[in-house]
Parts: sequence; structure tokens; C-alpha cells
Amino acid sequence: MNNFFDKLHEECGIVGIYSKTYQHLGPLIYDALISLQHRGQESAGIAVYHEGVMMHYKNMGLVRDVFNEENLRPFNGNVGIGHCRYSTIGSAERRNAQPLVVEFKAGTMALAHNGNLINAVQIRGELIDEGFSFTSTSDSEIIIKLIAIHYKGNPLEAIKKALAQVEGGYALVLIVEGKLYGIRDPYGLRPLVLGQTKKGDYILASETVALDLLEATFIRDVDKGEIIEIDDSGYHSHYFDTTKPMNLCGFEFVYFSRPDSDLAGKNVYQVRVELGKILARGDKEKYDLVAAVPESGVPAAIGYAIESDTVYSSVFIKNKYIGRTFTDPTQEGRERMLRLKLSILKSNIQGKRIVIVDDSIVRGTTLRSIIFELKKAGAKEVHVRISSPPVGFSCFFGIDTPSKKSLIAANMSVEEIEEYIGADSLRFLTSDEFVEGVGLPEDSLCKACFSGEYPMKVPKTHNKYVFEKY
Ligand code: AMP
Repeated sequence: MNNFFDKLHEECGIVGIYSKTYQHLGPLIYDALISLQHRGQESAGIAVYHEGVMMHYKNMGLVRDVFNEENLRPFNGNVGIGHCRYSTIGSAERRNAQPLVVEFKAGTMALAHNGNLINAVQIRGELIDEGFSFTSTSDSEIIIKLIAIHYKGNPLEAIKKALAQVEGGYALVLIVEGKLYGIRDPYGLRPLVLGQTKKGDYILASETVALDLLEATFIRDVDKGEIIEIDDSGYHSHYFDTTKPMNLCGFEFVYFSRPDSDLAGKNVYQVRVELGKILARGDKEKYDLVAAVPESGVPAAIGYAIESDTVYSSVFIKNKYIGRTFTDPTQEGRERMLRLKLSILKSNIQGKRIVIVDDSIVRGTTLRSIIFELKKAGAKEVHVRISSPPVGFSCFFGIDTPSKKSLIAANMSVEEIEEYIGADSLRFLTSDEFVEGVGLPEDSLCKACFSGEYPMKVPKTHNKYVFEKY
């Protein structure tokens, strides 16, 4: 069976650098990718362009495993892009790693993409019927193919025509004819920022942490429906769609972005602390201590502790050296995995009434195992507080949420989840509390994974089974 698109939810980090001067760009892109590694751990790649030649290399693995001093050495030029990608089993293949590099009418072009196209099935099917062939199963190849098809001497026009055909959540960095482009979808679902180094080089990146690492100053977020075009004369803004409302992904604040990044002017760490404070306001009871599910729950647990004046304490010690482990998908397998990853500080919890804070519940497996282990180790009560609303709906725009049948909140009420995970009590934030904590206008955030209200109609064809045809 052809497994085209069996993975519809790609999580990725992207970066682009434009310099007026020829320089050793490899290490700069490498450093930026290291700072974006949390956005995708499965494959990594770099493409650097200079005077008509595109040098590129990509492979499976973490950025630090894919690149070394030796293979970074030839990456010299004045414009380059990088990508790190995550997807689940099935499409975890080298051919789907990015940047994608093609030769076309105007020479060579490279693309790195974060997000998901919801009409990829349809467009790919149409192109295949017309006789086009594809070398990857990634939806990003559709964008690069459409740009090549529409190119009639003006790259900007070709990009606009290609984007008019695709729908979904995306942030792109692209090199065409030696210029660097940064693009955000018409709803601004996926983040992309623009910055500049002291030397005057321009940086485009998924998150501001990459700007910080390269000691670049933040200029601004790339706007929804905007194409930033960068060449020797500076950066130029073009819009390809201004008709849609802003819908920045709320889950970037919940889990996905690094806490030291700023999204839409909000620092992610401070947002998470605020979400924890709001959680605490809903509790009348006092508990003996508050702890976090490491590392994802830490800022919200700190916020909870500050607001409720409860002692914040570590109850888990994380093993930093675990590396790759064999996991079998049984409950015992997951419990063994958890014991390998986290060990419990028994002396901190024995006989105590604990509040455990995490950012989200997806399948419920993490908390179920944690609570089981905490109780076994002597905790008297374990109360769970989650700094987001229940995730009851799949994401189709670039966050790896499983299908509805695996989402615990799609199948159980809060009381049933509480019982399933073995908590003495369980509380999520409401949607209004979440919006209050983020501090952005409600209608500027995508909350589809909580509400099922998607910013655009998701076609029924956006389903893995239809791909068996191709
Ligand atoms: P689960 O055990 O399936 O309920 O997963 C919940 C845990 O996964 C929480 O600790 C989250 O921080 C983390 N998490 C949430 N979303 C994602 C995601 N898209 N990818 C990886 N981990 C996630």
C-alpha cells in the first residue's frame, strides 16, 4: 500500500538567512536549527545558494546527528534555509526530509515548510492525473511544483499563483533566483518572524529563539497572508490574501513553542505562568505541594504555586541520558518507559496531597502512568490541573494531534478522564480562561483542537485512506 500522506500532521521548524555578502552560512543555519529542534526531531536539512548553485544536504536524525564540522564546511553562500521535521511512523523517510530542492525554468529553487495543506490530496491527485510525478509523499512538494508550473519569468507572481491554489496552515521559507522569501498562510496559523543581525543579515525563523541565538534583533512577525521578499536592497512586503481573520495556533502557547520565544508579542513562558495562575484561582482547597509534569508543565505549575501560595516542589527527577529506548505499546511497556525517564522523589511526596500541573492531556497515557507511580510511591492524594482546555479535536494545520478516536477528551467526559487517569480531582482551563491567559483577542487565536471550530472547512478528502488511490 502506498502510504502517501498517512501522516497528515507535520511539526517543523524553519529558518532562512539572507546576507549581502558571501559567507560560511552553514554553522549559522545549524545553530538556528538547534534552537528550533523542539519543533521536529526526525530529520534535518540545509540548503545554501550562491550564484546559481544550490548546495544542500538532509538526512534522518537530530540536527546534531545529521550535521558535523565536515559536512557543514561547503555551505558557503549569501542565502540559505534550514528545516527540522517531525512526523510519525509511515512517512518517516529521507525523501520527505527538507529543504526540498528542484531544478526548474529559472534554475534552482529550495523550499522549507512548516504546517499542513488541507487540499493537498486533491491538488496532488489532479497533478498526477495531468502526468506530473512526485519524488516525496510530503505535501510541501505540491507548493514547489505549483511555483515551477506558474513561473513565467516573475517569481513573486508564480508564488502568488501557487498560494492561491493551496489551503491550510503554513509558514514557508523559499529561495528562488537568489532571493529569500518568507510566507505565512492567510490565517497566520503557523508562526514566522523576521529579524536582523548586527552585520545587517536578515533572518526568518519559526520562533524568536532562533533570532536570539544568532544575536539578531526582532523586526516583526511576518503577517498573515504576507510574502516577505529579501534581496540586496532590503526586505519588501507583499500580500497575497488579506481577506481572512488572524488565527494564530493556540497550541503554540500551550505546548509547542519554546518558553523563551515571543509569539505575537507575548512571551510564551509568561503566558504559561499566567495560565497556571488562572488555574489556581479556580481552587478553593489548599494542597501540600504543587509539582509539574516535566518539562511541559513547569511554567504553569510555577504560576499555580505563586497564585495559591503553595510550595512548588520537584517530585520527578528526569534522566538526561536515556537516549533512544525500545518502547512496546502495552501499558507495562509505557510504565517501564516512564520509570526510565522519570524517577520519583519519594521523600517529597509520601503522605502528601499533591497538585500536579501539565500543559495538556492528549491520550491520557502520561498522566495515568504518573499518577499510578506517584500513588505507588506513597502520595496521599493526586489532584491534576491542566493549563489548557480539553483537546477533543484533531489538528489539520500542523500540530501532531492523533485522530479523534485516540483523543481521550473526544471520548470521555472530564469525570471519566479523572477516573481513567486515577486522579483525586481533575480540572482543565475553560476556553475563556485560556484566552484570558494568552492575552490576545479571542478571535485572533485558533482554538480548533479545543472547540472543533476550524478556521476553514476541512475537506473530507483530507483523510489518510483516500491516498490508497495514488
Ligand atoms: P498524553 O500522554 O497522550 O496525554 O500526552 C500528554 C503529554 O504530551 C503532555 O505532557 C504534553 O506536554 C505532551 N504533548 C502535548 N502535545 C504534544 C505534541 N503535539 N507532541 C508531543 N507531545 C505533546
